[in-house]
Amino acid sequence: AKEAGRNGLAFYHAQLSEQVVKRVKLESDLRLAFERKEFVLHYQPRVSVQTGKIIGVEALVRWYHPERGLVFPDAFIPICESNGMIRQLGKEVLDIATKQQAIWAQQGQPISVAINISPQQIKHDGFFEEIVEIVMRNKCNPRLIELEITESTLLGNDQQVHNFLSAVESMGMSIALDDFGVGYSNLIYLQRFPIKTLKIDKSFIQGLEENKALASLVVSMCQLMGFTAVAEGVETEAQMKWVAEQAIEEYQGYYFSKPLPLAEINQLLAIR
Ligand code: C2E
Ligand code: CA
Ligand code: CA
Ligand code: CA
Repeated sequence: AKEAGRNGLAFYHAQLSEQVVKRVKLESDLRLAFERKEFVLHYQPRVSVQTGKIIGVEALVRWYHPERGLVFPDAFIPICESNGMIRQLGKEVLDIATKQQAIWAQQGQPISVAINISPQQIKHDGFFEEIVEIVMRNKCNPRLIELEITESTLLGNDQQVHNFLSAVESMGMSIALDDFGVGYSNLIYLQRFPIKTLKIDKSFIQGLEENKALASLVVSMCQLMGFTAVAEGVETEAQMKWVAEQAIEEYQGYYFSKPLPLAEINQLLAIR
């Protein structure tokens, strides 16, 4: 039994160090990814429920790893958030997305571009100045940029976050709250911030069959408080029908299109 225990521990150590090695490799690969320009954006259409037309896109980061191929953000964003790399990655995303917005506008496609922002980015002093610099350098129209923040950004309600959001708004950009309904903040609290849009979390849309009443309640609250509602994760015809019945303004989801690489979103934009 003693032997087995010792082996168990050795096995545990071996597993742990394997994990550590993997993590160290991932972090060094991430560092290289910036130099090698391995980050790209995919774009998911945001569609008007009334007209069925594309009114904007959400930029979603992807990592083209030389050995692993396409890596999705859930596999590296949390790591970047824990080691501080998110600031550099976030700047890179802002740079690519604002450049692309300017190109689309030049091509006669003035669509809005939504960009995900991590709490760590906002809590860093100087982030606002960085955004201004990027927007000016890329000659992008701030009225067509929406920053998607999460409820955790607002927790604590510190003045710094409030100042940042107000400054961003006075530049003409708008703010959306992502994954609405799964966090903690109440609506009264949300109203203190210059938030325009609530993105109803996809769990409500995907849970419609079990709980329509709950999803309706979340949507009505959002509308009563004067926010624009966006439904996320719309996959089926039945879900789409419900979204239209609720008078939700906009939606995203596989029902219309998954996030697409630039060449494919350009094709889709040309035929809209
Ligand atoms: P999110 O901001 O909530 O983005 C929506 C996620 O839902 C995306 O996953 C998208 O591909 C997926 N999705 C869209 N339509 C559907 C649908 O109909 N059904 C289902 N099941 N899923 C759908 P993705 O691209 O893997 O991104 C995951 C998360 O990573 C994002 O969630 C966001 O929190 C984060 N993320 C992505 N890009 C960035 C970025 O540039 N910066 C930061 N800070 N976070 C990012
Ligand atoms: Ca988002
Ligand atoms: Ca979301
Ligand atoms: Ca909430």
